[in-house]
Amino acid sequence: MMRELKPISVNVENLISVNKYCVDEEHKHIELASEDLGSLPDEEFGKLVRLCPAALYKQQPDGTRSFDYAGCLECGTCRIACEGTILRTWENPGPGMGVTYRFG
Ligand code: SF4
Repeated sequence: MMRELKPISVNVENLISVNKYCVDEEHKHIELASEDLGSLPDEEFGKLVRLCPAALYKQQPDGTRSFDYAGCLECGTCRIACEGTILRTWENPGPGMGVTYRFG
C-alpha cells in the first residue's frame, strides 16, 4: 500500500530571518566588477538574481539593479556562478563577522 505524500511548505525568508548577521561595514567581502550595476552584462547579473538563496541581487521591473552583501549566507553560489565574469572579489568575512546560523 502506498503512503500518501503531503506537500511541505517552506518559507525561506522566515528561516533566514532567524540567523544572526554581523556586517563588516568597513570591508565588503563580495565585490562586483563595477559599482555601476546597470553596466554589467544582463545574462551574468540574471544568474545572480536567480541563484542567490538570500535574494541579495535584485533587478526591478524597470531594470534597476541592486546588491547588498549584508545578509549573505556565505554559500558561495555567486562565486561559483560568476567568478571570472562579473564577480571581482569573494572572500570569507573576517573573524567574528558574517552569518551565524541559528538552525544548524
Ligand atoms: S554567497 Fe550565497 S548568499 Fe552570499 S551573496 Fe553569494 S549567493 Fe548570495
